[in-house]
Amino acid sequence: MDKKKKLVYAKASVDKKIKMTFTVAFVVLAASFALISLVSMITISAYSVSLLDDGDNANAVRNLSIALIIISLVVSGWLAFFVSRKAIKILHKGVCKPAMELIFGIRKANEGLEGIGIEMAVDTEDEIALINSVYFKIARQLKIHVDDVMKLSGLTEKFENSAHYDSLTGVYNRRRFSELIQSHTVVAAKKNEPTFVFMLDLDHFKRVNDTYGHAAGDEVLKVIAERIKNTVRPYDLFGRYGGEEFIMFLSASDATIATNFAERIRTIVSEASVHFEGIDIPVTTSIGVSQMSPTRTYEEAVKAADEALYKAKKNGRNRVELV
Ligand code: GH3
Ligand code: MG
Ligand code: MG
Repeated sequence: MDKKKKLVYAKASVDKKIKMTFTVAFVVLAASFALISLVSMITISAYSVSLLDDGDNANAVRNLSIALIIISLVVSGWLAFFVSRKAIKILHKGVCKPAMELIFGIRKANEGLEGIGIEMAVDTEDEIALINSVYFKIARQLKIHVDDVMKLSGLTEKFENSAHYDSLTGVYNRRRFSELIQSHTVVAAKKNEPTFVFMLDLDHFKRVNDTYGHAAGDEVLKVIAERIKNTVRPYDLFGRYGGEEFIMFLSASDATIATNFAERIRTIVSEASVHFEGIDIPVTTSIGVSQMSPTRTYEEAVKAADEALYKAKKNGRNRVELV
């Protein structure tokens, strides 16, 4: 039997089975009813005839009995036919049709599964078994897909993390930092406060690497980034600009307050050395501060902060300069 034939057969068989069962049940019922009426009529008429001596009256009773037997046979036959037809109609509408629609739907779903390489379950003429088998296949496949989606969402999260955060220090990378500038500028504008850019560059960092090794240098970058991150307010932006350079964007009521904050960060970096494998590594940073304004874009402010940073380096390092 090919797939199509099996499908039609399976679709028709629920209906067929129910119709057959009920037809047989109602035929048996009607036959029993007719038999009972027949036997009781014959008994009644035989008894009535035996009571009557008069031949004419006996004949009349016999004829009436025959007529009653025929009527009862016709009525019971008609009743059985009518009731079984009605019952079959109700069953067809209430059970067979929805069952067939369900099977049809399940098959459609199964066709979808076939499209992704899952076998069609047509090796059965039992629709309930078919529904079961298809349902379990769908459920199993769904589970596989859910697992895949979970894995994918995990990967997406990892991908987003690597796209937004610096892998060594865990702070925003340069790209993400510049993406976030716009929303932070809007927030600052609402507060009606001036905004500032800090450029931070660790002093003589090459020496740290040369003296203690690259791993020590990495540890310094991590610890310093963590310390600064814990110092800035939640609405300030802090990120790694590249190498041993960091960048910060914040709002403050004026340049003096901003410079004081930069001074605080400079102190936090220099006041405690970084411990690495039993060694204390002293670290200092120079900071260039610039103020953003309607006539100075973010890029221009970064450039200006860079100039201030250069000035801080030139003036002896471990210091803050404002442009
Ligand atoms: P200055 O005070 O003028 O800034 O001097 P400097 O030595 O800090 O500056 P320079 O640009 O000469 O050296 C920067 C060094 O930072 C060189 C580079 O190897 C090191 N560096 C950059 N990124 C990393 C990193 O991710 N890990 C480590 N360990 N070192 C890094
Ligand atoms: Mg540098
Ligand atoms: Mg440096």
